[in-house]
Amino acid sequence: MVKGFAIGRAVVMGAATLEVAHYRIQPDDVQSECERLEAAVAAAAEELNNMASSLPADAPRELAALLTVHGMLLVDPMLLQQTCDLIAERQYNAEWALATQGQILGEQFAAMEDEYLRERGADVRQVIERVLRMLSGSMTLLPLLDADHADESLIVVARDISPADMLRLRGARFGAFLTDLGGPTSHTAIVARSMNVPAVVGLGHVRSLVRDGDMLIADGSTGAVLINPSEQVLDEYHRRQQAYADERAALTVLRDAQAVTLDGVAIRLEANIELPEEAAVAMAAGADGIGLFRSEFLFMGRPDLPGEEEQYQAYSTVVRTMQGRPVTIRTLDLGADKTLDGEVTVATNPALGLRAIRYCLANPELFAVQLKALLRASRHGPVRILIPMISHMHEVLATRQAIAAARAELDARGEKYSGKIELGAMVEIPAIAIAIEPFVADLDFLSIGTNDLIQYTLAIDRGDNDVADLYDPLHPAVLRLIANTINAGERAGKPVSVCGEMAGDARVTRMLLGLGLKEFSMHPQQLLDVKKEVRLAHTNALRVKVASALNRAEPIDLAALAA
Ligand code: PEP
Ligand code: MG
Repeated sequence: MVKGFAIGRAVVMGAATLEVAHYRIQPDDVQSECERLEAAVAAAAEELNNMASSLPADAPRELAALLTVHGMLLVDPMLLQQTCDLIAERQYNAEWALATQGQILGEQFAAMEDEYLRERGADVRQVIERVLRMLSGSMTLLPLLDADHADESLIVVARDISPADMLRLRGARFGAFLTDLGGPTSHTAIVARSMNVPAVVGLGHVRSLVRDGDMLIADGSTGAVLINPSEQVLDEYHRRQQAYADERAALTVLRDAQAVTLDGVAIRLEANIELPEEAAVAMAAGADGIGLFRSEFLFMGRPDLPGEEEQYQAYSTVVRTMQGRPVTIRTLDLGADKTLDGEVTVATNPALGLRAIRYCLANPELFAVQLKALLRASRHGPVRILIPMISHMHEVLATRQAIAAARAELDARGEKYSGKIELGAMVEIPAIAIAIEPFVADLDFLSIGTNDLIQYTLAIDRGDNDVADLYDPLHPAVLRLIANTINAGERAGKPVSVCGEMAGDARVTRMLLGLGLKEFSMHPQQLLDVKKEVRLAHTNALRVKVASALNRAEPIDLAALAA
């Protein structure tokens, strides 16, 4: 769950609708947005004409007829006029309006009695896809994330939202996300958290219960969703929403306070970000640095790959924004639920497949471009490179070789970069948390990715709501792996942080302090909650309590740690 309350109208989205950019346009821009749509329709018509006139003489007659039907559909008012109406009424961008119109038409055609007409639904879909393709070439730039507008009154309801879809939804500043599928640490929930909006995932069948325009209340803390509530209930939730906002506002007094425990232990509180513009949010929250930049989000939800220059600019933006605080950039963690546009995974178990560093080492050109961009960004401030999903020492060695090759290429080009870039690894596969010694000896730092560590230790797919109740961050095996990693870091004098969702969950802050953790990295919005806990904690006392709880191997009692 992602905390907070949202009250608003439902926008029910199908899979195809999700695959386009979503943002709200200004009322003044309705006309130009409709013109953009008209231009795309005209371009699609021209493409169809060209295809029709270059058909070979022996082409089947059905093909020419099909092109004619598609051409007629393009000029039908149900396409252009009704989509323009949606742009005007709802202030959706053209892609979103067209995809929504496609969804409406799809449902109308599917309900038709006449089989011939029913089958024309497929033609409508193809025509809309053609226009969407034309539109993508003229996409207006998404407005930047703006936390002040996070409380918009539109609530997305979908069966599933992939991380790439989430990127497309950022610009519209939705009030909340509700999905049938997904687990609490799925990347959908993670991105919602970074957008600072409530998300209730894994609801089972919310999409079939809610209709477009229904009034909804989503309570991100309890996971409750209320459909068309009474005025009285609405009033009560407006009150709760205000109380929550007041509580958040009161926390801001801690922004410049030190994160030091009662017994004087200084704790580093860093931020997790998915996109460069979020670095400013991290600074505003008083983060000590970026503990995890999920760089793969630069690569997702777009038809092409970012080149070296674009990546260099993105990484440099973060480094400059952080004004000398360390920036930990994780190399591409693609695979499993985070895929490139158009890439279809055929692996039986993608989470156990060619993901993260395995993917990068299998795609050396792609990796080299990222490493060169990362190295170049180090001219502007401290950069640390973090390798995801390490399971073998030879992967560390191969990464070092790839970095050396990238350096050599930059040297040949006369490009500058820092000579002191730290290299670290994510501890998220149980194997390395158990046999940690060579990793801690070789690397400069370690970062525990509890989201995956829990998934791989307990054999629970983090995105699967059917087993979400078994996804237990407090399982003794998980805690022992975390403890083992922290202890090894302490012995070797190497820093160890936690950058999974546990780090930002204030309910477990004391327990992590009791395990000896001194570095936490989380969504910037969670930083002050965790800082509050840190300032009330006594690490010596916690270490004794947590050590004895681990020895007993009973479920740990969080309430006893707060006493
Ligand atoms: C993790 O696995 O805990 C982590 C921080 O990385 P991600 O959630 O992106 O897999
Ligand atoms: Mg991970």
